Amino acid sequence: MSGEGSASHESRAAAAGSLAGRLARAFHVVLAGIGVTALITLTVFGFVAYAVRPRVQRYVRGAIAVRTTLNGMIDQETGIRGYLLTGQSKFLQPYRSGVQAVAAANDTAVRELGGQHALARPLVEMRVAQQTWTDRWATVALNGQAPAPGLPPFENYVDQGKALFDRVRSTTATVLARADADRDHALQEEGTVLAVGVALDALVLALVSILATRQFRRLRRAVVQPVNAMIDTVARLGEGDFDVDVPIDAPEELRRIGDGLVATAAALEAAQDREQARQDELEQQSEKLTRILAMSREIAGSLNLRYVLQAVSASAASVGEYPRVRVWIVDDKAAALRAAHCSDGSRVGETLELGRGVVGEAAKYGRAVGETETGTLHAGADGAAALVRLALPMVVGARVVGVLECENASPAVLERDDLDVLETLSSHAATAIEAARLHSETTELTQTDALTRLSNRRRLDDDLVTECYRSQRYGRPLAVIMLDVDHFKRFNDTHGHQRGDEVLEELGKLLTGVIRASDTAYRYGGEEFTVLCREATLDGAAGLAERLRARLEQRMAADNVTASFGVAAAPADGTEPATLVGAADRALYAAKRGGRNRVVTSAMPLDVRDETDADSSAQA
Ligand code: GH3
Ligand code: MG
Ligand code: MG
Repeated sequence: MSGEGSASHESRAAAAGSLAGRLARAFHVVLAGIGVTALITLTVFGFVAYAVRPRVQRYVRGAIAVRTTLNGMIDQETGIRGYLLTGQSKFLQPYRSGVQAVAAANDTAVRELGGQHALARPLVEMRVAQQTWTDRWATVALNGQAPAPGLPPFENYVDQGKALFDRVRSTTATVLARADADRDHALQEEGTVLAVGVALDALVLALVSILATRQFRRLRRAVVQPVNAMIDTVARLGEGDFDVDVPIDAPEELRRIGDGLVATAAALEAAQDREQARQDELEQQSEKLTRILAMSREIAGSLNLRYVLQAVSASAASVGEYPRVRVWIVDDKAAALRAAHCSDGSRVGETLELGRGVVGEAAKYGRAVGETETGTLHAGADGAAALVRLALPMVVGARVVGVLECENASPAVLERDDLDVLETLSSHAATAIEAARLHSETTELTQTDALTRLSNRRRLDDDLVTECYRSQRYGRPLAVIMLDVDHFKRFNDTHGHQRGDEVLEELGKLLTGVIRASDTAYRYGGEEFTVLCREATLDGAAGLAERLRARLEQRMAADNVTASFGVAAAPADGTEPATLVGAADRALYAAKRGGRNRVVTSAMPLDVRDETDADSSAQA
């Protein structure tokens, strides 16, 4: 990855944040929301429980006490009225219990409500009214100073008590009204605090749910899409598609998984490439081996050296893709190598000393030799060296029969596998070349006359079949000359067989020296010879026979050796080997009969031949 790429990767990472971080943030938001809500609720309930509720209860208890004082006062007044009207002291019983109740209730009322600034004065006024009623009216009655009932002062006294008691009632009502108002105010305050608390809680919860919803959506976007993309990617990987497309705008963890997928895809692709390369290599190797096998089969059945050389060089060239492959054959007699074949025809026929150059070294030591740009080395010893040329000995048994020279267009490393294949190839090639060479040598021997080194009768028979066919098929001229040494028995008798052999040997040389390249001379048998004249007419062949006759006569003048010649030609004398040779033979015998040391053609009339006989005899 490039520096620029990694920088942008990091910035994206920072922007996207980690999945764990996002989850933690979402959790913290919800937790903070719950905390704030709980705090608000606690504060509200705390305030209500410890500040508002006791106040309300104090008002309630105070109000009950105040009402109790009023009830106590009413009991006192009722008791005193009964006592005044009846004079019976039993009516003082409610009065006394009322006094006690009022005293206790007053204490409670002062304790509960006295602390309230707004209630202090009404409370004092209520007590003053109570005290005033007691002092000015109740005490008078109890002391027996009240006017007797039925008298006018009694009515005044009763009215005065009524007025004083009304004052008690009104001040008590004031205290109660004020206490109830204060209680209602406290209750209202409690309601307000509770409402504010609930509203705050609702606000916080709403805020938290908005934040949580947003965070949830973001997380869903950040997780669901990349995860789907990765599932797709994994599915495509399974199908062998390594073109991995990972989300870049995902949380860190998912991006790490994505990076892992990219790395996995790369590793899988590399492994597949390696596998493919290995398979290709195996296929190539198998193809090379198949080619060698095919070549081996092909050349194993062939004894034609030219064909074997061509097949070997083509196979070697295809194994290493060599532009030039040359096959050298060891000539044991000359202790040298001869270039027998080259894929591009260069240097064919050239000879090379054993031990000279990589080719000579391979032949001399029987091992593969490589040539680098700087020197030679044992091929295969240093597999990493780039070779310009490789020489592989072709070995049969312990004998090197030749060398396979492979030239590279430019220095190239020789693979161990290729060397193995080439060595197998050269081993097969060696056997095939040796077999073809032995075969051609044997054939040569069986078709050559040992004394004169000319082709023998067997070869003549083969060649005649070929040439007669060709002549007939294409209408080409073909002539045959038969010659026989004159009185050779006598020569042998006179000079000995040894000398006779020498004469025959010399005659062979003379024949090969005079005839054209397209003609072939054969030892037909004994002191008889044949010349096959391709593309020659009867007259042409007769001319050649005459030159041969004259040259022999001249060359052997000292030994007085001559020969007689008979000439025949196709198609006049036939197109079959036997008829053609028969005609030439008849002409030869005509020459013998005519006096020897002469040429007779099949075209000469018998009388002409006889004349020739006569001339020759005359000359002789
Ligand atoms: P003509 O002129 O009629 O041909 O007489 P001629 O003596 O040559 O014929 P003939 O067929 O009677 O004798 C052939 C002789 O050639 C017999 C044989 O000794 C001799 N001859 C055949 N082959 C060889 C050979 O390889 N070496 C030697 N030195 N002589 C041979
Ligand atoms: Mg003869
Ligand atoms: Mg003879």
